[in-house]
Amino acid sequence: MGWQDRLTTALQQRQANQLERQRRTLHSAQGPVVSDGTRSLVNFCSNDYLGLAATGGTDLARAAEKWQFGSGASHMVCGHSSAHHALEEELARLTGYPKVLLFSTGFMANIGAISALAQRGDLIIQDKLNHASLLDGAQLSRARMTRYRHQDYDQLTQLLQNSIPDAPAQTLIVSDSIFSMDGDLADIERLSQICTDHDALLMVDDAHGLGVLGEQGCGVRGHFNLTPHQLPVYVGTLGKALGGYGAFIAGEETVIDYLTQFARSYIYTTAFPPAIAEAMLGNIERARDNQLRQQLSANIQQFRTGAIDEGLPLMASDSPIQPLLTGDSQRALDISERLRQSGYWVTAIRPPTVPQGEARLRVTLSAAHTTDHIKGLLDALTQAWHEAQS
Ligand SMILES: *Cc1c(COP(=O)(O)O)cnc(C)c1O
Repeated sequence: MGWQDRLTTALQQRQANQLERQRRTLHSAQGPVVSDGTRSLVNFCSNDYLGLAATGGTDLARAAEKWQFGSGASHMVCGHSSAHHALEEELARLTGYPKVLLFSTGFMANIGAISALAQRGDLIIQDKLNHASLLDGAQLSRARMTRYRHQDYDQLTQLLQNSIPDAPAQTLIVSDSIFSMDGDLADIERLSQICTDHDALLMVDDAHGLGVLGEQGCGVRGHFNLTPHQLPVYVGTLGKALGGYGAFIAGEETVIDYLTQFARSYIYTTAFPPAIAEAMLGNIERARDNQLRQQLSANIQQFRTGAIDEGLPLMASDSPIQPLLTGDSQRALDISERLRQSGYWVTAIRPPTVPQGEARLRVTLSAAHTTDHIKGLLDALTQAWHEAQS
């Protein structure tokens, strides 16, 4: 079979299994209400949990006046500006870590950190539902990787007892904080204890926790009241609750100094535009306002209470990610399309993003949603849920 055949066969299979992904084009700025070019949709699928993606435009314009556009080079050559530096320092203050290293995206932070920390002969153990970038990072490292059933820390302990590598090989344990497609929160306190007991290093991806969890949105470390030493490798992203773009790793001095020298996705890439770094400071300041988290929490409550009243099958999640499991991919697509017809945007999430037979509608809530937005969604959802093919 030649290349052409291989590619078309794969595409045809995707289509035949109702797994083909399609982009819908936005014709307005990101926000609780967006336009798809023909109609306005109340948006329940972004990761903009605090509604900050629609702020900061003036900060960005002002920063661009000063910094113009490109960074010109990688951080190690001459692309590291005082704007990047100030952002690293502010993120260290926000998350309560001694040191922070910026990356262009969370995907790059994860593959860079894991592939630099773990080496051939080491053991990486991950939660089965960890983000794709964490799994890819492990592959790049050439270390051995094994996974435990979602949040099954007894199984994790067993794996550790059976397979601790001999020194000098090391063990790295990796978990999402809030899981991106399920919305539940890992028990980071327990993971930290397990790592201490077994001399393993703990890395947590707080993509969905930063800005959402903890005092002033400081993230999952603060939420569980752990010291940086108890959660030594912390990944945060700037494109979700903080409403901007970029990512970072926070840790103690040695971890960050090591990653600065050895994380390839840090070293061999252009630094992101300095104006973005400078504009992020405004969004971080806004994200510190605890009233936003109170509003978000009230919105999550309103959605959950309403969904329970309507008999919709909620999952065990307290976070802004509130998935509704359909199982069947076609049914998820059908409900999503009906919602769109009623003016609501909720994406259908299908395999391979989630396991086979676990297609779902991923509803995400934001502090920027109004009571009417959520009430309207619940009405439309209840109707679509009953009318959709099963
Ligand atoms: C979105 C996400 C990432 C990737 O972050 P980007 O900055 O969007 O590249 C990493 N991990 C998790 C759990 C995510 O949800």
